[in-house]
Amino acid sequence: MYSSEISFIRDLFHSEEFIPLHAPFFGGNEKVYLNECIDSTFVSSVGKFVDKFEEVVAAYTGAAKAVVCVNGTNALHLALVLAGVERNDEIITQALTFIATANAISYCGAHPVFTDVDKDTMGLSPNAVDKWLTNHAEIRNDECFNKETGRRIKAVVPMHTFGHPIHLDEMVDVCKKWNLELIEDAAESLGSFYKGKHTGTFGKIGVLSFNGNKTITTGGGGMLLFKDEELGKYAKHLTTQAKVPHAWEFVHDHIGYNYRMPNINAALGCAQMEQLETILKDKRSTSESYKTYFEDKAIRFFSEPENCQSNYWLNAVILPDKDAQIRFLEQTNAEGVMTRPIWELMNRLPMFENCQTDDLENTRWFADRVVNLPSSVRNI
Ligand SMILES: *Cc1c(COP(=O)(O)O)cnc(C)c1O
Repeated sequence: MYSSEISFIRDLFHSEEFIPLHAPFFGGNEKVYLNECIDSTFVSSVGKFVDKFEEVVAAYTGAAKAVVCVNGTNALHLALVLAGVERNDEIITQALTFIATANAISYCGAHPVFTDVDKDTMGLSPNAVDKWLTNHAEIRNDECFNKETGRRIKAVVPMHTFGHPIHLDEMVDVCKKWNLELIEDAAESLGSFYKGKHTGTFGKIGVLSFNGNKTITTGGGGMLLFKDEELGKYAKHLTTQAKVPHAWEFVHDHIGYNYRMPNINAALGCAQMEQLETILKDKRSTSESYKTYFEDKAIRFFSEPENCQSNYWLNAVILPDKDAQIRFLEQTNAEGVMTRPIWELMNRLPMFENCQTDDLENTRWFADRVVNLPSSVRNI
């Protein structure tokens, strides 16, 4: 039934072998920089690539400061800590996300609240957040509280799904209106811009991931993006066990974290950043081909939202219904073309099934229809 789609994907990737969803691409100085780490013995938490990687990413994204972490999940955890999230706070996010977003909220002892996504972005809807707050929240002494649970609502954590930016201007306004911190889970959106400004730089803190399946990779890794340079410096202090600088003494002034990325991973990151433009161009040409192919089909290609430039980390299509989604997944995977459904919704997982939600209408609609297509760099 989907044999023409399968042949199209095989032609696109010039391959009769197994086609993965997203393979890493190493086409530059990766080996040179890794050798440099080994020859210098600086493979661990000190070394020039750590500082360099932070500088390059800050310059590219326009953040005042960027701080590397061991992975995106612990970067998210630290972002929430830095935003002042405390035990028993409530944090609004989307049910349509990778588990890391909800897990990071749980690490703080806070409770996720899941509200709906927008049809044109697949990310958290500012209207849905505002509507939920209007129905459930009140402001007391400049802080936002849930009238039913009595808990403080502290932050909103939207996620830029598959690299498509959410409606950021509107979300910034909603957060201002309700006195909430905006923390962007930009793990999937390195290279994605909203009205010309990089995702992850609209809120107090933004988080990137460099896991093996992301647009660029450091093996494992994450990055915090800051508007406020001082807060960034404080974050750096916390990621390095909050050790007070001294020639020999071990004095620590906070409960810190061992969240700093090793030099060896940052070396990969520096080499990958040198190729980012090439990688983004390659990925865009793949998305253009998919878009053209699906133009007159029953399966719809999901395009970047208006006024946005998406990185097309993972290309997504919308199948007509749940049955078609399952049939498409079965057939493509059986024939060695790797495709995946969108994540199981957070509110359907045992750890989060009792969390507050709104009707999640669009969220459920996407869950029944979205399939991700192979999206690796083609380099052809
Ligand atoms: C990849 C990802 C993360 C971070 O994942 P790590 O593997 O810990 O780097 C967080 N949120 C989302 C939505 C992601 O896709």
